[in-house]
Amino acid sequence: MPMRTPFVGGNWKMNASLASAAALTERLIGSLADLDIQAAVFPPFPYLLRIRGMLAQADSPIALGAQDAYFQRDGAFTGEVSVAMLADCGVTHVLTGHSERRHVIGESDELVGKKTQAVLDAGLTCVLCIGETLGQREAGETDAVNERQARAALAAVTPDHFERLIIAYEPVWAIGTGRTATPGDAQAAHASIRALVADMFDQPIADATRIIYGGSVNAENAAELFAQPDIDGGLIGGASLDADNFTVICRAAAR
Ligand code: PEP
Repeated sequence: MPMRTPFVGGNWKMNASLASAAALTERLIGSLADLDIQAAVFPPFPYLLRIRGMLAQADSPIALGAQDAYFQRDGAFTGEVSVAMLADCGVTHVLTGHSERRHVIGESDELVGKKTQAVLDAGLTCVLCIGETLGQREAGETDAVNERQARAALAAVTPDHFERLIIAYEPVWAIGTGRTATPGDAQAAHASIRALVADMFDQPIADATRIIYGGSVNAENAAELFAQPDIDGGLIGGASLDADNFTVICRAAAR
């Protein structure tokens, strides 16, 4: 079975000022200089260039990510940002389908699919987020929702895209709530998603695909979650705004 390099992403959401984002980056450059996992930060759009400059100057291994992208290359799409523009700013990773985009902004499975395809077609790494709401979990629909979202997002994805695809399983009820999935429940969902990838593509692709967990991961619960065989790291929201916590979480993912 291939080694999957653990991945931990810090999703800063719509938080931080330019000054505090730079201070956080400075701390992370120092604390994450020697990691044997892949770490990335996903700052708000206006801060990308500044943080890119800091990471590049320090020759930091931390990757630069964006929280969203539009699927069109250019044109009359006021307020949107294309994948090409992000690549121009040094972005290598892009989130698609984050639950706040799906459930707060109202993005459909179809739109998430177009964005996912655009990110992969442009040669960037896509972190595709999927996950069920509390009502769906209580109705026993977790696997069905994950399958529907994954199939819609990956409908046009080819096997050679897969090395640049990371799937983030993020149960909506666990995001920003302080309520995390038990390691056993998270592992079960990850194993089902891996089986789904095997069904859609093949077992070697499924074995090589990183599937990360997101939803109230913190410095205390990260190690137990990341110890599960199908959990290859995490997407971290609130705890990624604190350099010490994010560093502990990244170290917990190192195998
Ligand atoms: C997220 O934003 O993807 C996330 C998982 O947030 P939090 O860690 O705050 O639950």
